[in-house]
Amino acid sequence: MLHEISELFSEFGIEYADAVPFSECTVINRGKMRRIGFEPQTAIVFAVPYLRRFYDDINISLYAVSEDYHIFFSRLFSELLLRLGKMFPDGRFAAFADNSPIDERTAAAKAGLGVIGENGLLINDKYASFVFIGELITDVPPRFIVTRGDFTVYRCEGCGRCTEACPQKGGQCLSALTQKKGELTQSEKEMIKASGCAWGCDICQLVCPHSTTAAMSEIAFFSEKPIARLTRDIISAMNDDEFMRRAYAWRGKKTILRNLELLELPESEVKDTFTV
Ligand code: SF4
Ligand code: SF4
Repeated sequence: MLHEISELFSEFGIEYADAVPFSECTVINRGKMRRIGFEPQTAIVFAVPYLRRFYDDINISLYAVSEDYHIFFSRLFSELLLRLGKMFPDGRFAAFADNSPIDERTAAAKAGLGVIGENGLLINDKYASFVFIGELITDVPPRFIVTRGDFTVYRCEGCGRCTEACPQKGGQCLSALTQKKGELTQSEKEMIKASGCAWGCDICQLVCPHSTTAAMSEIAFFSEKPIARLTRDIISAMNDDEFMRRAYAWRGKKTILRNLELLELPESEVKDTFTV
């Protein structure tokens, strides 16, 4: 049956999908887990490649260049759940992408989708770390889906380039910092200014040797309506619907505008005056 499931995923441009017994998964959110309303037995885990190209002139993380990947997942899940419902009429499924009740990176590594990098990301053989992880938790027993017998988590070779290149050296990750609401401290503003990135940070991905051979995604969604270099003017010109379709929308317009304002200001003017 995994063969049929793999074929189903490949129809959506997803080549890396596999399953693990739920007993191999680590629950990180018990409340969310209880709310699925059935006894989980298997997790189908898959990797969605999103990289369509590298840009010379970019000031946001590569994952945020296209429209919000949650839109892609929402469409994908409606189709998948419909089709899986036909394959397993008695099965129940719960779908997640990045808001999962389980540790999805470890589940993906156990499912053989890649290794865990020292940068904390899943590194897939073909697409490197430029993948989103999704999973379908189901009460269909593993014997109907799982074919693997080895659930070892493998690690990257540990070359150390990611940790060497990280401007924060173990301090607050810039990715989280650009999402922070409220008042930024002077040093936080300076960190964002120095990074040149208004949303996220890709440094530890880009310096990874695996990224040099990363294949581009064939999924059309990720090449539609790209915006790699944001400005305050671009954000201000978006209507609410357009803005809400972007990955940086969930923290509100003020947050991304504040970050852009920091980037657009001369160094000497990055003062402790911006709040959200
Ligand atoms: S995303 Fe950037 S700031 Fe965060 S760990 Fe990686 S290199 Fe460091
Ligand atoms: S840069 Fe080196 S240590 Fe870091 S994730 Fe890539 S292979 Fe692993």
